[in-house]
Amino acid sequence: DIDPTVRADPLPEDQDRALRPQMLDEFVGQAEARANLRVFIQSARQRGEAMDHTLFHGPPGLGKTTLAQIMARELGVGFRMTSGPVLAKAGDLAAILTNLEPRDVLFIDEIHRLNPAVEEVLYPALEDFELDLVIGEGPAARTVRIELQPFTLVGATTRMGLLTTPLRDRFGIPTRLQFYTEDELFIIVERNARKLGAPADEGGAREIARRARGTPRIAGRLLRRVVDFAVVEGDGTVTRALADMALTRLGVDHLGLDGADRRYLLLMAENYGGGPVGIETLSAALSESRDALEEVIEPFLLQQGLIQRTPRGRMLAQKGWSHLGLDAPRGQTD
Ligand code: ADP
Repeated sequence: DIDPTVRADPLPEDQDRALRPQMLDEFVGQAEARANLRVFIQSARQRGEAMDHTLFHGPPGLGKTTLAQIMARELGVGFRMTSGPVLAKAGDLAAILTNLEPRDVLFIDEIHRLNPAVEEVLYPALEDFELDLVIGEGPAARTVRIELQPFTLVGATTRMGLLTTPLRDRFGIPTRLQFYTEDELFIIVERNARKLGAPADEGGAREIARRARGTPRIAGRLLRRVVDFAVVEGDGTVTRALADMALTRLGVDHLGLDGADRRYLLLMAENYGGGPVGIETLSAALSESRDALEEVIEPFLLQQGLIQRTPRGRMLAQKGWSHLGLDAPRGQTD
C-alpha cells in the first residue's frame, strides 16, 4: 500500500526549502491573517490544546502550504501533509488520522477535491475527534468507533465555492489570502536573492517584484531565471536593466502578465469584441481547463481590473483594452 502522505511532494520549484519562511515573523505580507494566527497559536499553546481547524483559501502560490508548516512549527507539533485527490478511500484518511500524535497539524491541500466518502469520515473526526469505521459488508457489516488524538486540520483550497457547506462550517478559522503588494514582494525577492547568494540591487529586485503577478511563488521562479541570465549574460548582479531584459525574453510583460494571460485577453478582444463571453467558451477556445482559467488566470486579471465578471460572462475592462494597446469598441463602458 502506498502511504498517501508520501506522494504529496512539494512542487519542483519549491524544492529549495531554504527559501521558505520558517516562522511567522519571517513571513512577509498577509498582515491581517498573520496577526490573527499569532493570537490563535498563542492561545492554543497556553491552553495546551489543539488549535482550531483552519482553512486557507486563495490563488495558488500565495503561501497556504507555507503558513500551515509555520503553524505546526510555532505550535511545536508534528506536521503531516496530504491532498484531497490522493485520499481515494475512507481507509486512506483513517490510516493518517489514527497515526497522528496529540495536537499535530494535518495539512490537506486541494481539500475541495476530497471524495465524498472520505469527507464523511472527516466530519466526526473534526467535530469530536472520533472515527466511525464500517467493517465488513452486507448483513455482517458493523461500525466501530475509534477515538482519535485531538489534532488541527489545516485545509487549503483555490476554490472556496467548491467546498461543501458542512465541510466549510467545520473550520473555526477560515482565512482568505490576498495577492501581495509590490513592496511586500520586493522584501521577499531581496531576501531570497540574499539566500541564493545572488546579489540583486534595489532596481533589479523591484523590477522582479513588480512583474511577479502578486505571487511569491512566481517571484521565486522569476528570480531564479533572472539570476541565470545575470550569471551567463551579465556580471552576476541582478540589476533593473538585466531583470527587464530577462523578463521580457521570458514573455513576462510590465504588468507581470505572461503568454497565457495575454492570450486570454487577446481572445476576448479580437474574437468576442470584449465580451461578455462565457467561461466554457473561453475554455474551449483557449484549450485550457475551466479550472485553470478560474483558479490561476482569472483571479489576477480580476484583481488588476483588466477583466470583469458579469452575470452574462467575462468582459474586457477599459484597462484590459489599453493594456493590449487597443481601443474599446464605441459605447462600451466599464
Ligand atoms: P500555496 O500553498 O498557496 O500554493 P506555498 O505556500 O507553496 O503556496 O508558497 C509558494 C512559494 O512561495 C514557496 O516557495 C514559499 O516559500 C513562497 N512564499 C509564499 N509565501 C511567502 C511569504 N509570505 N514570504 C516568502 N515566501 C513566500
